[in-house]
This record gives sequence, C-alpha cells and structure tokens, in this order.
Amino acid sequence: MNERVKTYYKNNFLYAGHRMVLPDTGEKFRNSCHNCKYYVNVIGQHETRKICLAGVKVYKSGAKRVPQSIEILELILLLGKQALYNMLEGNKEHQMACGSFEPVL
Ligand code: SF4
Repeated sequence: MNERVKTYYKNNFLYAGHRMVLPDTGEKFRNSCHNCKYYVNVIGQHETRKICLAGVKVYKSGAKRVPQSIEILELILLLGKQALYNMLEGNKEHQMACGSFEPVL
C-alpha cells in the first residue's frame, strides 16, 4: 500500500473507527436467533427443540406462514427425514442474527 492510500485511510474516520454500520445491519447486530421469526419450536414425540426454518423454501419464499411451533411430522412430510436430520445436526442459536433475520411480529 503506498503512502497516499495509507494517508487516505488514516484520515477517514469511518474506516479508522471501524464503526461504519449500514442501516440494515444494525438490526442484525442488535438481535439474535431468539428474536427471529424463523426460529420456531419443533414438537417431537419426546422433546421440543428450537430450530431455524430459514432454509425451508416454502417459509423463506413466503408461500406459507412461519408458525410459532410445528409438529415434527409436518416437517418430515415437507423436507424428508434426512434433510430434517441434517438441519437438526447443525442447528444452534446464534448470539448475532444472520442475513436472513426477520423480526417476530
Ligand atoms: S437469525 Fe438467521 S440463523 Fe437465526 S433463526 Fe433467524 S434466520 Fe435462522
């Protein structure tokens, strides 16, 4: 990096402060999965778990309303056993919301 570019970045307080937050991202930084409409209860036979449904096409596209809780049988019919198992394996609540975050209404 040449001296001119270094000086430009040094004098640019937005870059130097690392505090430039775009309007849309502010909402994502403030929230977690807990406040997201895609984070729903999945009711199984023995336990109830929270799972992110942002990867399910019908819910993401808006073709179906995202429920607050859903029976596991309904999800199995929608996704298939293996896809549901894969979703449950990597599923964790994140401290910071992801790009698909939408607030619970
Ligand atoms: S914030 Fe992202 S990962 Fe968390 S529940 Fe919402 S869509 Fe899923």
